[in-house]
Amino acid sequence: MARTGKEYTEGLRDGREVWLGDRRVDDVTLEPAFAGAIGSMAALYDAQHDERYAADLTFTHSSGEVWPTSLLIPESVEDVRRRGRAFRVGAEHTHGLMGRSPDFMNSMLTPMRIASDFFGQREPAYQKNIENYYDLVGSQNLCLTHALLNPQVDRSKSVSEVADPGLALHVVRETDAGAVVSGARLLATLAPFADEIVVALHPGPPLRADEEDYALAFAIPVATPGLRLVCREPLSHPGSDRHPLATRYDEMDAFVIFDEVLVPWERMFLYRDVEATNTAHRATNTTTFAAHQTTTRATVKAELALAIATLVADTIGVDGFLGVQEKLGEMVDLAQIMKSAVAGAEYNAKPNKWDESTFVPDADGLLAVRGLTPFFYPRMVEIIQQVSGSGLINVPAADSMSGPMKEVLDRFYQARSASGDRRLAVFSLAWDLAGDGFGSRQLQYERFYAGDPTRLRAGRYASLDKRALHETIEHLLVRRG
Ligand SMILES: Cc1cc2nc3c(=O)[nH]c(=O)nc-3n(C[C@H](O)[C@H](O)[C@H](O)COP(=O)(O)OP(=O)(O)OC[C@H]3O[C@@H](n4cnc5c(N)ncnc54)[C@H](O)[C@@H]3O)c2cc1C
Repeated sequence: MARTGKEYTEGLRDGREVWLGDRRVDDVTLEPAFAGAIGSMAALYDAQHDERYAADLTFTHSSGEVWPTSLLIPESVEDVRRRGRAFRVGAEHTHGLMGRSPDFMNSMLTPMRIASDFFGQREPAYQKNIENYYDLVGSQNLCLTHALLNPQVDRSKSVSEVADPGLALHVVRETDAGAVVSGARLLATLAPFADEIVVALHPGPPLRADEEDYALAFAIPVATPGLRLVCREPLSHPGSDRHPLATRYDEMDAFVIFDEVLVPWERMFLYRDVEATNTAHRATNTTTFAAHQTTTRATVKAELALAIATLVADTIGVDGFLGVQEKLGEMVDLAQIMKSAVAGAEYNAKPNKWDESTFVPDADGLLAVRGLTPFFYPRMVEIIQQVSGSGLINVPAADSMSGPMKEVLDRFYQARSASGDRRLAVFSLAWDLAGDGFGSRQLQYERFYAGDPTRLRAGRYASLDKRALHETIEHLLVRRG
């Protein structure tokens, strides 16, 4: 049976090393700043047992166990759609605000399992390792995070050229049991609340041929000795009535420091293999599978932004103005384009080159939305800000409505279609998404979650078949008559 929220939460009490400011958090489940996000994660696990969602969120694996649908190996177009439905139902539980919910990493692990041959090219044992790992994650319904990038020290230099080349994660030595690694990786969202961390598949600057010590892919428990998580400033506001999103969905981002961490050989997927590490992400179709989840999630988030913008406009009676309607209409179109791209990718799914009995969503629409979300999403936030005017700022501090000023505030903060109390709830929601720290982090997430948007878009141009495109206009270059 799939894991419950309670079992997931109890699993986090494992001695992991999590740092928050100047103190080590002994038990993440007791940390007030983490309570909302852990509660939301537990609710996602519980949804797998809820008869309203179980059919979408889970499937029965050939072993007879119930696994999350995000690990379903799609053997038909319908299976691809089934995965998509699971991504949507999951995202709706968090309004798309927890980008690294467990289905995200599962969406990456599934293509890695399908393309397990890729990992066995140099060392056959690594193929088996990926296959075993997929089985482990499925049967225990684990929650994974990942850390792909080397620290941001001096991006003008290659990883081994910076002043201290030991800063980036690298091999220190080998033992019979495994490889000992040290150094750091960024940026593991959800890491304090995850069971395992995957260090893999390099989407950043390619490694040089002589940078073998940095060319690794593996997965280990978060609670592995020597693995330290350094959390950013929490953005949640436990107990506040002014931060309905931040208190529920602050999924936390952590810098990961490895101090002589032993990676067992059976958890190694690529080892000192520069070529495979540089190319694995794209070569295994991981990019496309991940984009299926992320584009679906981002669409649900776009729908949240649209709902908030229209609610704000209705509340203060600006919804009838042409300029406001035009902006809200723009949001409708942006959300619809995203939704259509997902539907098109599922409809046009095709056999996966790694195993032609399995299917992969069509990449083009998904990658287009992935490339445009860093522009779509900030625009949606800007529209919420424009439509709100001063209302976004003119919100009294938390707990005002439970103080002696309640009656006065209820009268003077009233709006066309809302009491003072409700109007402040609406604008608190809008501020949480479009103004405050939580909202700013969400914006930065949508800009960078899939990698550097500038290089991603440039890469789309680089992979364009220009010759075929130019052939379509060749006849226009021939002088007539
Ligand atoms: C909120 C958030 C959550 C994240 N969660 C995760 C996660 O869960 N797991 C994970 O692995 N990563 C995560 N990331 C990291 C994300 O993958 C990176 O932010 C992204 O790949 C960009 O890398 P960077 O941050 O090092 O920026 P950099 O690569 O340092 O880029 C900074 C700026 O410099 C420019 N630049 C840098 N190098 C070049 C170059 N060679 N050529 C041209 N321009 C260049 C970029 O265009 C950009 O404008 C997260 C990031 C954010 C913001």
